[in-house]
Amino acid sequence: MPIQILPARLANQIAAGEVVERPASVVKELVENSLDAGATRIEVEVEKGGAKLIRIRDNGGGIDRDELTLALSRHATSKVSSLEDLERILSLGFRGEALASISSVSRLVLTSKPPSQEQAWQAMAEGREMDVRLQPASHPDGTTVEVSDLFFNTPARRRFLRTEKTEFGHIDEVVRRIALSRFDLALSLRHNGKPVRQYRAASLPSQQDKRLAAICGPAFMTSALRFDSEHHGLRLWGWLAPPSAARVQPDVQYTYVNGRMMRDKLLNHAVRQAYGDRLPAEGHGAFVLYLELDAAEVDVNVHPAKHEVRFHQARLVHDFVYQALSQALEQGESVQPSPSPA
Ligand code: ADP
Ligand code: MG
Repeated sequence: MPIQILPARLANQIAAGEVVERPASVVKELVENSLDAGATRIEVEVEKGGAKLIRIRDNGGGIDRDELTLALSRHATSKVSSLEDLERILSLGFRGEALASISSVSRLVLTSKPPSQEQAWQAMAEGREMDVRLQPASHPDGTTVEVSDLFFNTPARRRFLRTEKTEFGHIDEVVRRIALSRFDLALSLRHNGKPVRQYRAASLPSQQDKRLAAICGPAFMTSALRFDSEHHGLRLWGWLAPPSAARVQPDVQYTYVNGRMMRDKLLNHAVRQAYGDRLPAEGHGAFVLYLELDAAEVDVNVHPAKHEVRFHQARLVHDFVYQALSQALEQGESVQPSPSPA
């Protein structure tokens, strides 16, 4: 075969392989876009575990008519424009790939109205070259992205979809993670027309506790130790189950770095080390933790789906987290002595 430039759709489908694993990855990318657009309210609606339909509606800043075509193109982003920006990422997105990738493996319709514009417009990419078709639409301020028939044109991927229940479970988990990342966000989730989650904007501590209990369970909520530590520009806050309650909710393990949800080996290691041998044999640590640090101190451009980060001063971060959590556990022990063995 001679060397040739791939048609746009095929190039985007190849890129989609890295970011669009299943319906839940679409939900994550789209909700992150809404957050980057300053949305305070996001509605997620899915049908058939997201395989049939994923619709995300937000009240964010919207996209100008003249930029809709670009929004659907690969390597098009409003979030970085230089290497300096890339080394100091404040937004959740920055690769300019999600919309192009998702629309190459589904039927995607983007509808948006910035407050400054009278009319809403709708865009979709068609054909091999993904030429964008624009038409006027009716929509309030904000953006709706509708993704139908995910992987309809990539049968190999489609076959990897699990049952509706499993796929919906992953979507639900993404929504829970986002809900814990931003207490001020109003967020709802519907499945097959039925409301499943409804998180109201929570600004008061009592409302935040309610959301925490709804997501992590009342057992975690009542036993969790609240911590908040700062050291040399690093801040760690959140909730941690004392070892005596660590068995209750093995699934509560939420980690955020500068508001971005992630599973990080280094942080997990620090947490495990802080629990140390305080944990019972089959015990799991249960925690919700938020690490905040200068954006220049962390590299988020490590993994296409941005599940991982790299800390420039890994040792420092690890030790800080270990110290902060050990302290929280020690204080917890002095307040509520662990129950005597039966
Ligand atoms: P990235 O998020 O990495 O910039 P995307 O492909 O996810 O790339 O989105 C491309 C661009 O489209 C974004 O940079 C943003 O300008 C715009 N955009 C996407 N979703 C929204 C939204 N919900 N509201 C406003 N603008 C959006
Ligand atoms: Mg994005």
